[in-house]
Amino acid sequence: MNPIPYGRQDITESDIQSVVDVLQSDYLTQGPAVPAFEKCLADYCGAQNGVALNSATSALHVACLALGVGKGDVVWTTPVTFVASANCALYCGADVDFVDIDPCTYNMSVECLANKLKLAEDVGKLPKVVIPVHLCGQPCDMAGIFALGQQYGFKIIEDASHAIGGKYKSEPIGNCRYSDITVFSFHPVKIITTAEGGMAITNDAQLANKMRLLRSHGITSSPEDMCSRPQQEIWNYQQIDLGFNYRMTDIQAALGLSQMARLDNFIAKRHGLVSRYNQLLSDFPITTPWQSQDSHSSYHLYPIRLQFDKIKQTQHEVYKFLREAGILVNLHYIPVYLQPYYEKLGFEKGYCPEAEKYYSETISIPVYFGLTEDMQDRVIESIRRAIA
Ligand SMILES: *Cc1c(COP(=O)(O)O)cnc(C)c1O
Repeated sequence: MNPIPYGRQDITESDIQSVVDVLQSDYLTQGPAVPAFEKCLADYCGAQNGVALNSATSALHVACLALGVGKGDVVWTTPVTFVASANCALYCGADVDFVDIDPCTYNMSVECLANKLKLAEDVGKLPKVVIPVHLCGQPCDMAGIFALGQQYGFKIIEDASHAIGGKYKSEPIGNCRYSDITVFSFHPVKIITTAEGGMAITNDAQLANKMRLLRSHGITSSPEDMCSRPQQEIWNYQQIDLGFNYRMTDIQAALGLSQMARLDNFIAKRHGLVSRYNQLLSDFPITTPWQSQDSHSSYHLYPIRLQFDKIKQTQHEVYKFLREAGILVNLHYIPVYLQPYYEKLGFEKGYCPEAEKYYSETISIPVYFGLTEDMQDRVIESIRRAIA
């Protein structure tokens, strides 16, 4: 039997045709597909501007730079995330710090954030930017984080790499009502894919322009942005900032645009799988993901929390059993500050107790568009045997 991954892309003939069309066109990069994809996603979110990049990691980097993050600044994020949510601060020469999670939502705890802000204010070390992550697609308490941002003066980047297609208080994730910038990822395990790719969404035109500049070497070809030069010299572009080559290709954008047509289907399918899991796992000694009443998760991931007071096996034994049964479960995530690179920066075990407890009890089981009910039954049966 084929192994079942924890997540995977779904590519149709029409996705393939949209990529072939670009390959047969004049522009493989910097053509019409990138702005079309940007507009499509910004419109979907109900936001003003989309800036496509070659990854969400790049999007987080230019988002931090656009908000002025640099040496001497501090950026806060959650420890239960992919390393990119924290690395972006280090790229800018800033320091990074972590706010513990809420044991129910697994997202950054607003209570811990409030307490940490009070302490930081006393020592004059308030964060410049806070990066909440909508873990597994479950939206963070953005209203609470936004209110603290108003009180303490920090900017907010939503890392919505898991959350495209989700809703918070009946509005799409990405509308930036409670943030300065929202970042999406289109890696193949995410909800829609461009192979590699990301997008930064913002309602602030200046931030959008800055991110566009940074994604392409800091080069502008708009005369109004150029420095004046003698009239007889030819200057059709100028480098006015230090940027990068973080551009998305038209090949990727065409795939993204084609995938956008099925985004709502992808989310609906995930919701169907999740309610089936919730039901069929209800008498297992595991805790299934919590769903806030005021939000609609995109269900990028389905982490189960093993109740070790009722299970004899260790987390490692359950993990190994499932992998050997061809259920390619994963762990989302090892608290970032326990990564060897971060330990070298001085972080130690015990720093965020709820994050560490979550990490020691959790396993992500498969959830993706192509998962059939038969496959799902195989996953459930394997879990039953793993903890028997
Ligand atoms: C996948 C992911 C990223 C990075 O996305 P890339 O597009 O692979 O760079 C960042 N943050 C989170 C939470 C992610 O899951």
